[in-house]
Amino acid sequence: MSDRIAIVTGGAQGIGLGISRELVTRGYRLVVWDRDAAALEALPERLGIDRERFIGQVVDVTRKAEVEGAVEELIQQWKAPDVLVNNAGITRDKRLVNMEEEDWDAVLNVNLKSQFLCCKAVVPAMIEAGSGRIINISSRAWLGGFGQANYSAAKGGVVSLTRTLAIELARKGITVNAVAPGIVETPLMQSYTDEQRQRLEKTVPVGRMGQPDDIARAVAFFASEDNTYVTGQLLYVCGGRSLSSPSV
Ligand code: NAD
Repeated sequence: MSDRIAIVTGGAQGIGLGISRELVTRGYRLVVWDRDAAALEALPERLGIDRERFIGQVVDVTRKAEVEGAVEELIQQWKAPDVLVNNAGITRDKRLVNMEEEDWDAVLNVNLKSQFLCCKAVVPAMIEAGSGRIINISSRAWLGGFGQANYSAAKGGVVSLTRTLAIELARKGITVNAVAPGIVETPLMQSYTDEQRQRLEKTVPVGRMGQPDDIARAVAFFASEDNTYVTGQLLYVCGGRSLSSPSV
C-alpha cells in the first residue's frame, strides 16, 4: 500500500477500468471521475479496493465547474493527487460529408477539452507539491483514420497538449506523457461480429487485439515515482499497428 493518489477519468469501464485495476494492484489510492453513476457505485467491489481508499465521483469532465469542484473536494478529503490519467473519450465516426458540427464539438470536448480542464484544475496543487505525473490517452488514430476527422484531430491535439505541458512543467517535477492505444477489446467491441473482429485482428502485426491491461501497464510506467526523466513522449501500445499506413 502506498500513500500515492491517482485520478482516472472515465475509469469505470473499458480501458479506464483496466488502468484503475492496475493502479489499485500497485497500491494507489484511487479517484475515478466518470459520468456513469451505477458503474462507479459498483467499482470498489469490482476492483477489490477498500472504500476508504476509493473516491468515485460523477463528473462530466467537459464541465469546468464539475472538474474544479471535484479537485477541491479531493484536496479537502485527502490531499493533492500524485497522478492524473486523462482517459475519458468518445467516438462519433462519420465521413466529413455526414459529420455535423455537434459531432465535431462533442468529440473534441470529451477527448481534448476535458484534458485541458483536468490538467488546469490539478496542476496548481501538483506544482505546490513539487511533483506530479500526468498521462493523457491519445490513440493510434491520431495518424489519421477514415471517418474519424473529429476523433483523429482530437487525439492529435492530445499529443500537442502533452508535449507543450511537458515543456511548461518540466522544472516543476511534473512529467506529462501520452499513450496511444491501437484496437483494444472494450465493451464497444461486443457489438462486432466474428467476421468484423477477424478482419480487424488481421490489421494488427502481432495478430491480436489489445487488452485494457496492455494499456494499463504502459500508464503505470509513466505514473511511477521512478519515472523522473521521460516526459513529453507518446508511447504507442498497439501491437505494431502504428508501423503500417493510416487506416482506410
Ligand atoms: P469506453 O467507452 O469503454 O469507456 C469510456 C469511459 O469514459 C466510460 O466509463 C464513460 O462513462 C466515460 N466518459 C465518457 N464521457 C465522459 C465524460 N464527459 N465525463 C466523464 N466520463 C466520461 O471507452 P474505451 O474504449 O475504454 O476508451 C478509453 C480511452 O481510450 C478513450 O480516450 C479512447 O479514445 C481511447 N482509445 C480507445 C481505443 C479502443 O480500441 N477502445 C483505442 C484507442 C484509444
